[in-house]
Amino acid sequence: MGKIALHWFRHGLRLHDNTPLQKAIAGCTSLIPLYILDTEYFKPGKVGINRMGFLLDSLKALDTDLRAIGSRLYVAKGDPEEVIGKFIKEHKIGAVSFERDTEPYNKVMDGKIINLTKELNVEAFPLWGHTMFDPEYLLALNNGDAPLTMTSFLRLMSEAGDPPKPIDPPKSLPPPPADSLVCKDVFIFQGVPTLSDLTEYEFNPKDYTTWFVAGEKEGIRVMNEFLAQKRRVSTFEKPKTDPTALQPDTTALSPYITRGSLSSRTFYHGLKDTLKGMKSSKPPVSLKGQLYWREMAYLIGFSVPNFNQMEGNPICKQIPWLTGDDAKALLDKWEMGQTGFPAVDAVMNQLRTEGWMHHLARHLVACFLTRGDLWVTWELGRDVFEKHLVDADWSINNFSWHWLSCSAFFHQYFRCYSPIAFFKKTDPNGNYIKKHVPILAKFPDKYIYEPWTAPKGIQIACACIIGKDYPKPMVEHQFVCQENKSRMKKAYDTSKKRDSGEPPAKKLKQN
Ligand code: FAD
Repeated sequence: MGKIALHWFRHGLRLHDNTPLQKAIAGCTSLIPLYILDTEYFKPGKVGINRMGFLLDSLKALDTDLRAIGSRLYVAKGDPEEVIGKFIKEHKIGAVSFERDTEPYNKVMDGKIINLTKELNVEAFPLWGHTMFDPEYLLALNNGDAPLTMTSFLRLMSEAGDPPKPIDPPKSLPPPPADSLVCKDVFIFQGVPTLSDLTEYEFNPKDYTTWFVAGEKEGIRVMNEFLAQKRRVSTFEKPKTDPTALQPDTTALSPYITRGSLSSRTFYHGLKDTLKGMKSSKPPVSLKGQLYWREMAYLIGFSVPNFNQMEGNPICKQIPWLTGDDAKALLDKWEMGQTGFPAVDAVMNQLRTEGWMHHLARHLVACFLTRGDLWVTWELGRDVFEKHLVDADWSINNFSWHWLSCSAFFHQYFRCYSPIAFFKKTDPNGNYIKKHVPILAKFPDKYIYEPWTAPKGIQIACACIIGKDYPKPMVEHQFVCQENKSRMKKAYDTSKKRDSGEPPAKKLKQN
């Protein structure tokens, strides 16, 4: 009997640029492609329907692609260590391959699987693939530290050079041992599950409303379509893009890159080939720069302890945010698009219905929830984003919430986004609001950002009474924003005093 290998699909839900998969198939006669739905990682109640639906659709697309080359996907449910252990024993697996991960929970799991394969004397191929570079290599290149500014990260990137070129997808795969696999005491779905199969999440499939089409083929198609617009690629600069555009003004590749349907290295080299011989914008504002932001967020998330919380996190300012029930009441209104500020509510409605918003739209609502207006802890906002985003990404999401709350990386707390003025620059007529807060659609443009200022007669004519059909603003922005700046100053002053009495945070370089 030949060797059976098991490839455990994690983030990298793709066939192209999948080094661990290639390693596994090199020496086996039969391959089990396995995805494990880990309900501890995707906790019911904490994962929204669009995020989960997009994941399942990505698995469905992967299954289709695998079937086209003589294989198929098996989807099991449970703790990966237990599931893989049982598969190894029952199916006499000779090799296990998987993509290593940078998130704390997944790092622990990596260690467990590596130990398990050692114990059971099975060959293992745990390899990096979700980032452009091996994060351990980047840390070593930077004396063990993660750069905490883009300037120092760019220096590191110039030392590192280009990331490795992506590898081609396999043309065929060794067949699985049987079409319908069983494994004692492991729950294996019949095919790829649908939202209705995941009963513990209590989803109503009607609420799956994101417009993103999942899968590797689609991710590559979207990338190629964007790259074909050479001028757009060569002049791309962020933040100079439109958060209120009704069609994404940026690539909208994040759901594919996050799910690993599109390799970040494939996108990097696609950009490089496209821009060969052309004058183009430069990092950090260019598209290559966006990939560098991603890489930097991953490296920091990989190396900074407690990066997903304020407590015990050496780079996070200690700020006395609102937490507990007081915060929860404010958070609920924010999450449900009921703040009374149409621009903020439009973004939050887009988040819940589409699972994606423009980067600057994320800026607006994250600032509003934290240091701008509501003074709610960034950790709760992060959770809401993580629940609904189809591109929910542990590293980038945590990184960005640090930034927007001025907890790390960005410290100009005296610069706040105005929930009234910000979107007027790109959308004076409020078309974005009219789309995402349809109750306000009939309001004259003049009142669209401040509907509470419309005379009663206009409110009646628009069939929307402010305070009844749509909420009044939950805070007086001008007032709370000033008050919060004073609170931020106090927190910064306190942390300065505290830091001056302590040795510098070890091993974390700032410049
Ligand atoms: P483009 O501008 O076309 O960029 C191309 C790719 O570069 C993106 O797909 C993404 O992989 C990467 N990228 C772009 N901007 C950033 C950035 N600022 N930091 C790191 N990587 C970046 N992005 C996520 O992918 N997942 C998240 O969970 C997430 N949470 C965020 C939370 C907040 C509060 C904020 C302010 C930003 C967050 N972002 C997150 C970053 C950014 O908003 C999205 O990556 C971007 O809007 C996705 O759209 P795009 O693919 O069109 O980006």
